[in-house]
Amino acid sequence: MLPTTLLAAFLPLLGYVLAQEEGQISGPTSSASAAGYSCDATKCKLPNCNCASTDPPGGLSPSDVPMFVVFTADDAIQTYTLDAVNQFLAHRKNPNGCQPKITYYTSLNYTNYTLVTDWYVAGNEIADHTMTHVGTPPEDEVTGNLIALNQLAGIPLSSIIGFRAPYLNYSVDTLKMLAKLGFTYDSSSSASVPVTDDGTDAFWPYTLDYGMANDCLVVDGLCKGQPVLPGFWEIPMYAMFDERGADGPHLMDPWLDTANGQSTVNDSATLEYMKSTFTAHYKGKRQPFGLYTHPIHVSTTVPGATVSNSTINMINEFLDWAQEQQDVWIVNSEQLLEWVRNPVPVSQLDSFAPLKCSTPAVDSSTKICNGIPQNEEGLLDHCAFSDFPFYTCYGCPEEPPTPSNPSPPQTTESGHVARFRLPANCSTPFWDPIKGTCICNSSSCAFTDQSRPIGPNGANLTGDQVSSGSQDGEPSQSANPYVPFNAAAPGALPAGAWSAMAVGVVGAVLGAMGAFSRL
Ligand SMILES: [Zn+2]
Repeated sequence: MLPTTLLAAFLPLLGYVLAQEEGQISGPTSSASAAGYSCDATKCKLPNCNCASTDPPGGLSPSDVPMFVVFTADDAIQTYTLDAVNQFLAHRKNPNGCQPKITYYTSLNYTNYTLVTDWYVAGNEIADHTMTHVGTPPEDEVTGNLIALNQLAGIPLSSIIGFRAPYLNYSVDTLKMLAKLGFTYDSSSSASVPVTDDGTDAFWPYTLDYGMANDCLVVDGLCKGQPVLPGFWEIPMYAMFDERGADGPHLMDPWLDTANGQSTVNDSATLEYMKSTFTAHYKGKRQPFGLYTHPIHVSTTVPGATVSNSTINMINEFLDWAQEQQDVWIVNSEQLLEWVRNPVPVSQLDSFAPLKCSTPAVDSSTKICNGIPQNEEGLLDHCAFSDFPFYTCYGCPEEPPTPSNPSPPQTTESGHVARFRLPANCSTPFWDPIKGTCICNSSSCAFTDQSRPIGPNGANLTGDQVSSGSQDGEPSQSANPYVPFNAAAPGALPAGAWSAMAVGVVGAVLGAMGAFSRL
C-alpha cells in the first residue's frame, strides 16, 4: 500500500531496530534457588489463580491435554509482515476446522493502522508492544499504544489484554504497571531450561499471586515471592534447545540462529532441534511450544528481503510435521490463557468457545469501513505523514500519535472528512465510522460460527489437510472437509454435520455474547 520509495527510506531504520531485538538468551535465566518460589495450591485456584507448575492446569493428565503451539508476531504491522505470517498459517486448519489465529504484539512506528483493524476483525489478538518500541517502558508508551490502537485502528480497549516488552526488557515495576493498567497478562519472560532437565522453568502460565518464577537470575527484584500481583498472569516464552541442551537455547526467530555451536545457519539443524524440543514437550507434560516471530525477517515481500525459500519451507515443514500429530492446536496467547483458566480435556475441545472461529455477519455488498477488505474498499482515509504514512477507517490525526499525545485531533485539511471513532457500545466490524452508526444492535446480526466438531480425541482431523492436498489423491471433499455451514445445503453436509450445526448455533450465540462482551 505504501510507495516503495517511502519504504526504502525508513527500512534501514527498521532494520536497526530489529537487529537489536533477537530475543536471544544464552543460558538459564532462572533456577530453583533463585526463584525461591512457593505457592499454596489449596488456596490458589483457577480460574483466577494458578501456581507456577510444570504440571498441566486443573490436575489433567498430559494425555488429556492439547499440545498447544503458540504463534506470536512482534513489532509493526505492515502488508509485508502479514504476508509473512500468512505464508505459514493461511492454509492451515486446527482440529476444529478453524484457521489458526495469532497474537500480534504491536508497536506503532511504521504500523499501518487499517491492517491492525483487518487483522483483529479476522479474529487475531492485538496486544501492546509500546508505541515507539522501548524496553522497560514508561507508562505513556504503554497507555499511548492502547489509546492509538483504539482511536486509529478501532480496537476495543477491553480486547487488548496482553503485553510483551520490546527486547524482552522489563522490570518488577513494568509488571506492577501492567497489572495496575488492567492488563490480563505479560509474555516477556523466558522458560530457559529444557523440560527434560531437573529444575526446568518451563511452567504453564501462572498468576503472580505468589510472585514470579521465571527470569529470576536476570531481572532485579524478581522472584522470591515478588511481585505480588493477584490474578495477573505470566505466559512464559518457551525456549527450544539444540544438541547442547540447556547451553544451546533458542527463543525468538530460531531460524536466524546457528545451531549446535556452528558458525553458519543451517535450516536442517534448526528443524532438527525444533522437532526434538516439540517432542520433549509433547511426550512430557505438554507445556506449550512457542513460535515467537518477527515476521519481517521471513517476509518475501518486504523491499530488500533476504530470507531464503529454504528457511520458509523449513518452517512450513515443521508445522506440517507437528500438525500430523494428534491433539496439536496452533493458538494465540489469549486462547492459551482461556484454556489454562478453564482446562477442559481434549475430548471436550469441540465445544470450547475460545478455540472457535466466527465471521462477522456483515453482507459483502455493504459499504462500511469495518476491517473487512471487501466492505471497506475505497473508504480508507490516507494519512500521508512523511515518516510513516498509514491508512485508517477512523480519520487522520493532525500529526502522528506520540506517547505524549497519542490521540491528536483529526485533521480538517481538504480531502479529510471527520470520522466517528469506535464507541464503547459497538464492536469493530459493525461500526460505521463514516456515518457514525452501529449496524448491529441485536443478536440477529451476530457472528456466524464456522467451527466444526473435532470428534472424540481429535478424531484424526489434525493436519494440514488443505495445502498438502489429500494424502492419496482423493477429490475435494476429503481434502477440505470444512465447508462453512452457511455455504452448503443440509443434504450436502458430511456425516456428523448435524451435531456440528447444533454446536454452530450455540457457537453463534456465544459469538454474539463475545461480540457484546467487547463493548
Ligand atoms: Zn519488538
